Amino acid sequence: MRVAFFGGTFDPIHRGHLRLASATADAYALDRVLFVPVGNQPLKPGPTVASYADRLQMARLACNPAPPQPATGNQQPATDPRFAVSTLDIPRSDGSPNYTVDSLAALARELPSASLFVLTGADSFLDLRRWRSPDRLLALAEWIVVSRPDFPLSESQFAPLALTPAQRARVHLLATVHEEVSATALRRRLQARDPCTGLLPPAVADYIQTHGLYR
Ligand code: ATP
Repeated sequence: MRVAFFGGTFDPIHRGHLRLASATADAYALDRVLFVPVGNQPLKPGPTVASYADRLQMARLACNPAPPQPATGNQQPATDPRFAVSTLDIPRSDGSPNYTVDSLAALARELPSASLFVLTGADSFLDLRRWRSPDRLLALAEWIVVSRPDFPLSESQFAPLALTPAQRARVHLLATVHEEVSATALRRRLQARDPCTGLLPPAVADYIQTHGLYR
């Protein structure tokens, strides 16, 4: 079983995240992609805008939209059966940060026979040396790093990470994703009452609207 850990703030989850997940699942024959909203992200300044509960619920809706409602004509796109949402990075009771290395180690204990992968966009991977225990992170799982506009994938770009040849062999690059969307830009647009049609899964857009998020 090939299982991928895809962590993020998902504030909110958007088309870029889903495209990254489906492109990597297709290219690397992943059986399962676990979307893991992070409770307390140690590397991002300040708290998230939406609560953990809302971000978790939006991730669940993106992965498992409600069945079509004939009465309202609400047609949500079909769920990708490889996608699931995990609470591995639920906020800690003492408010301390959630470190990917801890959640990944827990996942490895839970699924001892699985091949584990971590999915990231190129921008996050470039920060790897700031993550807690980068060498252990590279030992616990193989990594799939995906292109993002303004963050092209190239060997020279990764030089500052000083990966050993053995570590480099565990990092796979997927340069076929070109999604010009970021949660930061979406939050700004939502605040200006732009519904961001096409950039958010419809069930997520409905949730944001109903709960008055990002206003
Ligand atoms: P923000 O704009 O607030 O930083 P974000 O979407 O980059 O939001 P996260 O939700 O933490 O932040 O992203 C989770 C992961 O998804 C990260 O590894 C990030 O690099 C990746 N990602 C996000 N958007 C894209 C995109 N458009 N293309 C490729 N990867 C992306």
